[in-house]
Amino acid sequence: DVPDRAEARRFRLGIMGGTFDPIHHGHLVAASEVASEFDLDEVVFVPTGEPWQKSGQQVSAAEHRYLMTVIATAANPRFTVSRVDIDRPGPTYTADTLRDLAQLRPDAELFFITGADAMEQIMTWKDVDRIWDLAHFVGVTRPGHELNDFGRKTDISLMEIPAMAISSTDCRRRVEAGKPVWYLVPDGVVQYIGKYGLYTPKLSEVGASG
Ligand code: ATP
Ligand code: MG
Repeated sequence: DVPDRAEARRFRLGIMGGTFDPIHHGHLVAASEVASEFDLDEVVFVPTGEPWQKSGQQVSAAEHRYLMTVIATAANPRFTVSRVDIDRPGPTYTADTLRDLAQLRPDAELFFITGADAMEQIMTWKDVDRIWDLAHFVGVTRPGHELNDFGRKTDISLMEIPAMAISSTDCRRRVEAGKPVWYLVPDGVVQYIGKYGLYTPKLSEVGASG
């Protein structure tokens, strides 16, 4: 009957990992679409730790990336942000993220959300066998990347979402070139980038000291 079924249903927690340098509408649409399709109760955004070198480029301070993620998600009651990765020393491995969140939220069923490009990387991780026990994986489409089903050997759900041809790399380059990022990232993130001079080499030296 109804009360029993309500009790039996586990809390469904989505996990959106990323560098979020900066967070943009592609991330937010992906989280929102998966939340709707998989009936998630909450999606927790988890900015990666530092120090961290990505594609040979220095990544912004974790605190900036964390705060931009908080600003971008603040209006959605189902979106939250976790510090587990930025508070853990060293580079971020998804196996650690999942283990920490499973420990913090023992009653939750975990759904790890990734774009098509990140899914390719997951398949090459050395801990790959361990992570399938910790969470369901949901791969979403991303313009310019192919979403493979890897022969369905693994517990991956694939989902087509509205195509947002936005990347953090492009946002950073636009800011550096003096081009707008309005409507690519949330308004508060545009303002945060300007306030601290992120992605503008000369300004960010000043911004670092306040
Ligand atoms: P960068 O260009 O710095 O790599 P990014 O735009 O790829 O930044 P990440 O923080 O690397 O953003 O990505 C976090 C997660 O969000 C990854 O799983 C990535 O595949 C996914 N993602 C990022 N942008 C999109 C998008 N436009 N559509 C769908 N998924 C996306
Ligand atoms: Mg990326």
